[in-house]
Amino acid sequence: MPLRSFVDGVEILASALSETEWEALRERVAAEGLTVTLPCCGAEGFLRRNHLGTQHFAHKPGASSCEMEGETVQHLGAKDEIVRACRASAYAASTEIPGEGWRADVLAWRGKTRIAFEVQWSFLRLDECEFRQTRYAQDGVRGCWFFRKPPPALLRDTRVRGGPALKARQDLPLFHLIASADNHFSVELNGQQYALSAFVRRLLAGNIRYCTEATATETQSAEVMLYECPCPRCGYRSVVHAVDTLLRADCGLHVSAPTSNAEALLYDAHVAAALANYRVTLEGSALRMGELKLRDGAMSQGCPRCDRAYAPREILAEYHALLRRAREDDDAQWLGRFPVALPLRDALRVPVPHWCCPAEGGAYCCEGR
Ligand SMILES: [Zn+2]
Ligand SMILES: [Zn+2]
Ligand SMILES: [Zn+2]
Repeated sequence: MPLRSFVDGVEILASALSETEWEALRERVAAEGLTVTLPCCGAEGFLRRNHLGTQHFAHKPGASSCEMEGETVQHLGAKDEIVRACRASAYAASTEIPGEGWRADVLAWRGKTRIAFEVQWSFLRLDECEFRQTRYAQDGVRGCWFFRKPPPALLRDTRVRGGPALKARQDLPLFHLIASADNHFSVELNGQQYALSAFVRRLLAGNIRYCTEATATETQSAEVMLYECPCPRCGYRSVVHAVDTLLRADCGLHVSAPTSNAEALLYDAHVAAALANYRVTLEGSALRMGELKLRDGAMSQGCPRCDRAYAPREILAEYHALLRRAREDDDAQWLGRFPVALPLRDALRVPVPHWCCPAEGGAYCCEGR
């Protein structure tokens, strides 16, 4: 179902016409018997508006089969939205544009810049996508991909939190396209969702950049997690704490803090203060916890029965085991959890390649600071 066709020999892009213009053209085609020639297969077509409101060209019934007929209304709708966003960004744009060894769903161009947008509605293997990206590159076209079902090989960098995330590759800008039940399209990036058209406009304005590091300069939000840990000496089970840290990069990306942080944070002054406050609450006072104090010259948590100090690695080993179980089984094992804000003394940089998209006026992670 093409968005572009020839009406009486004149190339028409459905996405470029307003509703009124489209209706007027449809009436003219009927009244004057103009021919509509589809570019996909050369068959005769007609003007149509589908149930989602997308205006497009369609094959006349009985026309020989054409691969474009199998296109879903969602794919068509997404292309239409991309074309309109490109044109709103002062780019020329059209659909189903063939080139040297490629055919772009949407091609946008301005001056010497050419950008191909591909909407991948059904599954596509990563190597197939890479192959097509190479074709674009060889022809000097930048390719940008929207996948409804991203290739599993690109799924989720485990250091990134907050919803599904894709590994970012500079050579392959590929983003997760989401269609809502009422057929609105959005793009998921760094835990946020953007309307497809807003995303395309940001991209064309150069507001989405590849950065190899996530930079956090403000606060690191953390959660104190409480759980049971048996005493290695007497076996008594009491409650200990560990700190789950989350860095919020300045662009909004959430990443796990470097693991070297975990031990240091066990006895951070902010954590200790928050813990003391928690222990006088109704919930906190009910927990059997050892004292947080100096033992053998170092701050430690300890067994409330025999006062043996827990080594940080003992605390964290139990914590990581529980974390794995909790991921499979919700929060069943945590006996308590509460947030704590940890001001950052220095900017923290975590090596997480990502497409950086700060809010307006915000800084990019890769900007020299
Ligand atoms: Zn066709
Ligand atoms: Zn003990
Ligand atoms: Zn960033």
